[in-house]
Amino acid sequence: MVDITFLGTGGGMPMPFRHLSSLMINYEGRKILIDCGEGCQIWIREYGLGFKSIDVIFITHGHGDHVNGLSGLLATIGNSGREDELTIIGPKGIKGIVEGLMVTARYIPYSINVIECDLDNLNFKIQNKRIVPSDEKTSEIIISTLPLEHSIECIGARIEIKRRARFSKELAEKNDVPKMLWSRLQKGEEIEFEGKIYGSNLVLGEKRKGIIISYITDSRPIDSIVDFIKESDLFICEGTYGDDNDLEKAIKNKHMTFREGAALAQKANVKELIFTHYSPALLNPEEFINNATDTFEDSVLANDGMKKVLNFID
Ligand SMILES: [Zn+2]
Ligand SMILES: [Zn+2]
Repeated sequence: MVDITFLGTGGGMPMPFRHLSSLMINYEGRKILIDCGEGCQIWIREYGLGFKSIDVIFITHGHGDHVNGLSGLLATIGNSGREDELTIIGPKGIKGIVEGLMVTARYIPYSINVIECDLDNLNFKIQNKRIVPSDEKTSEIIISTLPLEHSIECIGARIEIKRRARFSKELAEKNDVPKMLWSRLQKGEEIEFEGKIYGSNLVLGEKRKGIIISYITDSRPIDSIVDFIKESDLFICEGTYGDDNDLEKAIKNKHMTFREGAALAQKANVKELIFTHYSPALLNPEEFINNATDTFEDSVLANDGMKKVLNFID
C-alpha cells in the first residue's frame, strides 16, 4: 500500500485556505517528499506523518512556491533527531538553491546529499527500512525524471514502486533451496551458502504488478509527457488554470489549463488524474472541473490535507 498526502495545493502565493505545492508519498513507513512550498510542515505535523523518516526530497524546480519551505523543514528534521543522510534531488542549479536556503538552517545533525539531475533514471531501494540510492536493476523504487517546459529548468517525476514476485514453495523445493534461506531470498537477497550461490529467482514465481505515480508541475503540456506518464496508476498534474479562457495566460506563463492536463491523462491512458497547483486567482477550482472530466472522466481536484491510498492489485 502506498499513501499520498497533499500537503499544499497552491501555486504562486500561499492563501489562508491553501498552502504551496508539496506532496508526501509514504511507502512502508519511508517517505518521498515532492516539492517543499511554504507551509508544507503543517499537514506533516497535523497527520503525524513524521519528519525524521523523510528519505528523499524531490524538488521539481527553483521557483519559490516549490522550495521556500525547505529551510524550515530541514531545521525541523534536524530537531527530530535525525542523523542519517538525507537525499535531495532536483534539476540543474538545485545545489546552489539548497545552499542558499541552508543559511538559516546551518547546524543540522545530518548530512545532505544533493543530486542534480541530468540523469533520466535514479534508482532507490529500501535497505534496513531506509530508502537509499541504488544502481541495481532490481531496485524497489525507481524515480525517473523528465525535462519539462517551464520558465526555468524544471523536471517531472515518475515513481515506480515495484512489487516482488510471489514466493513459490514449489519452485523453492524443486530448486533444492534450504528452507532457512527462503525468507531472505524472498526479499531479493543473493546468498552464498555452503559453497553455492542462491539467487531470489530460485524461489520467486509469478510476477506482480507494481504502482506508478507521475507528478508533472510546472509545465506546458509537451508531447514527451505522454510517454513518460503512460499507464500511471495516478497522474498528479498542475492545474494552474481551470477556465478554458485562460489558455493564453497558460501559454504565456508556461502552465496548463485543466483541459490540457486532462488531454495528457487521456492520451497516456492513466487510471486517475488529480489536479494540484492552482493559481491564487482560482478560488473555486470545482467550478471548472467539467473542463477536465469532458476529456478524462477520472479527474479529481486535490485540496490541502487530502489523502489518497493506492493498493497493489491482488
Ligand atoms: Zn509553481
Ligand atoms: Zn514554476
